[in-house]
Formats: sequence, C-alpha cells, structure tokens
Amino acid sequence: MKMESLIGKIRDKNAGQALFLQAMEEVLESLEPVIQEHPEIENLNILERLTEPERQVIFRVAWQDDSGKVHVNRGFRIGFNSALGPYKGGLRFHPSVDLSVVKFLAFEQIFKNSLTGLQIGGAKGGADFSPRGRSDTEVMRFCQSFMNELYRHIGDQTDVPAGDIGVGAREIGFLFGHYKKLTNRYELGTLTGKGEGWGGSEGRKEATGFGCIYFALEMLETRNETLEDKTCVVSGSGNVAIYAIRKIQELGGRVVACSQSDGSLYDPNGIDFQTLRMLKEIERKRLQEYLELHPDAEFREDRKVWDIACDAAFPCATQNEILKEDAESLLKNGCQLVCEGANMPTHPDALRLFRDAGILFGPGKAANAGGVAVSALEMQQNAGWESWSFDRVDNELNKIMKGIHRTCLHFGDRYGAKGDYVTGANIGGFLRVAQAMTAMGVT
Ligand code: NDP
Repeated sequence: MKMESLIGKIRDKNAGQALFLQAMEEVLESLEPVIQEHPEIENLNILERLTEPERQVIFRVAWQDDSGKVHVNRGFRIGFNSALGPYKGGLRFHPSVDLSVVKFLAFEQIFKNSLTGLQIGGAKGGADFSPRGRSDTEVMRFCQSFMNELYRHIGDQTDVPAGDIGVGAREIGFLFGHYKKLTNRYELGTLTGKGEGWGGSEGRKEATGFGCIYFALEMLETRNETLEDKTCVVSGSGNVAIYAIRKIQELGGRVVACSQSDGSLYDPNGIDFQTLRMLKEIERKRLQEYLELHPDAEFREDRKVWDIACDAAFPCATQNEILKEDAESLLKNGCQLVCEGANMPTHPDALRLFRDAGILFGPGKAANAGGVAVSALEMQQNAGWESWSFDRVDNELNKIMKGIHRTCLHFGDRYGAKGDYVTGANIGGFLRVAQAMTAMGVT
C-alpha cells in the first residue's frame, strides 16, 4: 500500500484522535526512503501493525475525596508494541488525558525506547485526574483505586509503568504499595521511579532533564559550541524542567525563564535553582511565591516563554506548546537550538520553520529518552537486588544519550537528511523494532 493511502486508512480508523495522528504522520512520512529500500516491510505489513496498539485497557476509577464525595475518572493503559521487550512507559495524571493523548505518547515511546538500545517495548497510561490541590490522602485513594484495575495488566516481565506529568515519587509509592498488597508480591521491577532507599534508582529523578542537556551538548559540539554563557529559556517547572535547568547552570548556561500552566517566571539574574526546587519539588507551591525571595524577578500571566530573547530553548512542559508564531519569535530573537524535554512540544508548522532555518533541533523521542533509559537501569538494579551509585547511573545515562545522538546522525545522513535529527530518530528507532517484528513472525 502506498504511504499516502496507508496514512489515510489510519486517519479514518482513528478519526478524532488528533494528537495520535500528528505523531503517527510525522513518523510515517520520515520512513518513505526506508520502505523503498526494504520491500519486506510492506510485504509483512509492518507499518499497519506498528500503528495499531497491541492492547488497550480503559477503566473506571472511582474514589472518595476527604469530604466523602465520590468522584469518577477514566483510566487508560496502552501496550503499543512489545517487540523489543516488556511494555514500558509512564503514567500521566492530568485533566487533559484521553485516548488520543495516551496513544500518541505510547506510540512515541516505541521509537524512544528503541533508540536507547535497551530491551523495552512502548507503552503509556494515565487518567483524567489532577493531583494538583488534592491532599496526600486523596491522591493515595485515587492511586489505590487506579491500581485496583491496573494490577491485572502489569508485571516486571509484562508491562512496567513509571511517572509522567502529575505522577512523581509520591504517586509511584502509593501505586506500588497497593500493587504489593493486591498481588502479595514485592516485585520491585513492576514500577520505576520509586523512592531512593526502597528500590528506586539514584539519578532517576534527574535523568530526563540531565539527559536532554547531554543530548543538546552533543548537538552543539557538531558546531564547535557549548552551553557556556548561553542564555536559555525552559518551559514548565516540573520534574524535567527543574533538572534541565540545574544541568544547564552546571555547564555555565544562564536560564532566565521557566513556566507553569497559568504563567511564566522571568528572572534577569538567572533562575535560582535551590529556590525553584524547594518551591516545586518539596513544597508543591506555585511559581508566584518565587518573587518573595527574588524581588527582581517577574511573574507574567502569559505562560509562554518563547518571546524572551535566548540562544537556546528547552520545551519541558507539554505537547504542542511551540506553535508557528512561537517559532517565529524564537528565530527572530536569534535562538540557535531547540531541544525537547517534553513529548511532542513542537507543532509541525513550527518544526517546519526550525528545519528551514537550519537551527539545531533535538526531537523529544531522542532528547528526552534519558528518563526511560534510567528507568530500565532501575529495572536492571531491581532484578539483581542491587543499588548503583549516582555517578555510575549518570555515567551510563551520558553514554546512552551520546549513543542516541550518534544513531540519529547516522540514520539522518544515511537516508539523505544530514543533520536532521527528526528523520534520524524516526528511522533509527523504527528499524530496530521492524527487525524484531520481522524475526518474530506475524503475531
Ligand atoms: P510534571 O508534572 O513534573 O511538570 C509539568 C510541568 O509543565 C508543570 O510545571 C506544569 O505546570 C507545566 N505545564 C503543563 N502544561 C503547561 C502549559 N500548557 N504551559 C506551560 N506549562 C505547562 O511533568 P514532567 O516534568 O514529568 O513532564 C513534562 C514533559 O516531559 C511531558 O511532556 C512528559 O511527557 C515529558 N517527559 C517526562 C519524563 C519524565 O521522566 N518525567 C520522561 C520523558 C518525557 P502546572 O503545575 O501549572 O500544571
């Protein structure tokens, strides 16, 4: 089947799932030159199989708030592809979660996990529940109700969830506690992102942010540049953003802005990492409170940071947060590098502008793979009842990010898109999965 008609067929079958279709089209369009070279991909109908999830579970999550009121949310877990290993991918708790969101994330995860070179398949899950403003006991009850269904579908050899937006060490703790109770098994490798001290890996919470910056450094090195003295903006102020900011600062860069869903923070003196971490990671407060300690900073109701002049931009919040007009602002102000900590934060129209301008662009499925890579290292430590040092994990992470960078460059170059990390990531991620699917027959 011609690529165009295949995309049309997938569009019809998944009508209304805009984010999934956006992610699918970007990947399939990159694969044209590979398909021409490998007729077996078409003969075995690998692309149609790859774009249909192996399994999808949707379930009711009923729970009681602290006043006794009963709430109903919808839970999801999609196992998209297990050719390379057990399903692996995070859980997102956010009001915007629906089937399209979870499917796009699970689809991206297939290629990201493949790029790490580790044995992990692609999955994602979550619920349309917001932990923001909820007490710890409400979050615990929600997580327990969520696990009442999820536990049947997961396991260290089957499907291994982790965190994502709205799911951090607190939620993973509640989820694991209930999984242990329901199954009567202390099966550590079933969830990653656990607390350090009870099976969580050192360096996991830093991994996605640090990994994104390691990837950016590799890209900069191809132009004999570093992050030293570069002015940077980072969107979001959650797990990925916080540790991207920390690593940029360690490497001599200056981060002047970050954001949250209802506004952004601009600090001309550079964001103070310790204040940010204390506010967001420990006290779960809002960015407005930063001003009490740093009166020179400014909180803006505009949640976008893309109109602030910078050398490098790191979208670390959510999907489609850089639109065409944002890309125009970034380019006009001289931005030379965009590296995605979030999943699919750049809209295709914005991506087109970045490509035309020839700036360095690191796609999320390559640049933010550090999180899942260290999750896989956590599984490895759990399997051997081991606990590695922070330096050992960080060193492995750096090696993996360098490897992903090499893979992207190699496949971009090999298929006529020199320096195009989007094409390189899509092709490099795809080929490993396609080879495994081919070897395993039609299942
Ligand atoms: P968190 O929940 O820790 O943080 C999300 C942050 O983004 C919050 O500060 C949130 O603000 C902000 N945000 C959400 N929507 C918007 C918006 N429209 N504009 C500005 N800010 C917004 O999530 P993570 O840091 O874990 O995840 C961020 C991104 O990174 C996601 O795309 C995720 O899929 C991706 N990712 C995460 C990995 C991980 O290891 N955690 C691994 C790989 C990718 P508020 O508090 O107001 O909601």
